[in-house]
Amino acid sequence: MSGASTWQAFDRSHVWHPYSTLVDPPPVFPVVGAEGCRLRLEDGRELIDGMASWWSAIHGYNHPVLNAAVSAQLERFAHVMFGGLTHEPAAELARTLVEITPAGLDYVFLADSGSVAVEVAIKMALQYRAARGESTRTRLLTLRGGYHGDTFGAMAVCDPVTGMHGLFSGVLPEHVFVPRPEVRFGATWDPADIAPLAAALDQHGESLSAIILEPVVQGAGGMWFYHPEYLAAVRRLCDAHGLLLIADEIATGFGRSGALFACDHADVAPDILCLGKGLTGGYMTLAATLANADVALTICGNEPGVFMHGPTFMGNPLACACARASIDLLRAQDWHANVARIEHALAEGLAPCRGLDGVADVRTLGAIGVVELERPIDMRVAAPAFVERGVWVRPFGRLVYVMPPYIISDEEIAALTGAIGAVVTRHAEAHT
Ligand SMILES: *Cc1c(COP(=O)(O)O)cnc(C)c1O
Repeated sequence: MSGASTWQAFDRSHVWHPYSTLVDPPPVFPVVGAEGCRLRLEDGRELIDGMASWWSAIHGYNHPVLNAAVSAQLERFAHVMFGGLTHEPAAELARTLVEITPAGLDYVFLADSGSVAVEVAIKMALQYRAARGESTRTRLLTLRGGYHGDTFGAMAVCDPVTGMHGLFSGVLPEHVFVPRPEVRFGATWDPADIAPLAAALDQHGESLSAIILEPVVQGAGGMWFYHPEYLAAVRRLCDAHGLLLIADEIATGFGRSGALFACDHADVAPDILCLGKGLTGGYMTLAATLANADVALTICGNEPGVFMHGPTFMGNPLACACARASIDLLRAQDWHANVARIEHALAEGLAPCRGLDGVADVRTLGAIGVVELERPIDMRVAAPAFVERGVWVRPFGRLVYVMPPYIISDEEIAALTGAIGAVVTRHAEAHT
């Protein structure tokens, strides 16, 4: 066996990939390089990347500015514990996050992954209630069709059906779910859309601590874009019922939806905000949970007087330095016009899919394009079919979607959308 086949054989039989099996796993493709908007496979093929490594590689791969930021910090030190010590990369990243996020989110917890940022947000909501002597208010309200991560607290607020965690329902805390918003982004707002949530608050309000949701764009739970007025209405209802609003912008942050943060579409400031994914430009794992003064100072001003969380790799300096460089890079360009360009090209390229057999819906928002199918697509067929066509697209269930790096060219978008049309056509033919 050659060296390469040895590691690949070992990977195939011993290494779990996301949501994967170790028994007869579907093929995975060995990457040996990544540059700009391209992934290079071991056999020399180059793929146009439609996934930005799950929303994260917003500037593309192997970016000289991000490389330099990480290298410079590496020369100083890679990591020190954050308990009792501090460093400039963490403090300056926090300052930047406070500056660019919706007003009032002035207190920053640096977490080590998106799921942990959600755990931290939930824990903040619980400690806030405990600090106020309201420790019976432990439940959360959330939307169906949501996805908030894979850890236990986060799983409990994922959609019970599409959120991939139905198996664990018996051991998870039971929260309150309301139907996902029906009125689409860009459609005419209908106040009736908020009625189910308002009714649930009337029924359960006393037991609730917070509402947690993905603002405007629901990601992995359904790739659904809803009306910003819904979010504005949720904010008003939270205020009326004395509930905290937790916005999970782990997928939507940093321009993806066409606004810097999806909350900006509704000019809404949550009480707690979760960021992740695009935070470091896809270089390494880092997330953040921001809180306003009410949340932070209530927690810290009452028993036990501290916030009870502190991961080993909290505030990792390499990740913080990279995140700051990534945000500076974003802010130094006309990202707004660029994301609008991508939205236009995706909409144009995916439009022909509307007429195809087996297609239920086509929608685009910002740098996100979605083709929703009537039946789930067979991943074992779809992934290699996309690779054959020179693109990297990884569908999920009935959803074929792309959220490319922002540096993608119009020609590359056309190649992506063309491949989606071809693969969706083949999927439909397989069912006739
Ligand atoms: C991906 C995601 C998470 C979880 O982040 P991880 O880094 O995978 O733990 C949470 N919420 C949303 C909205 C996400 O898209």
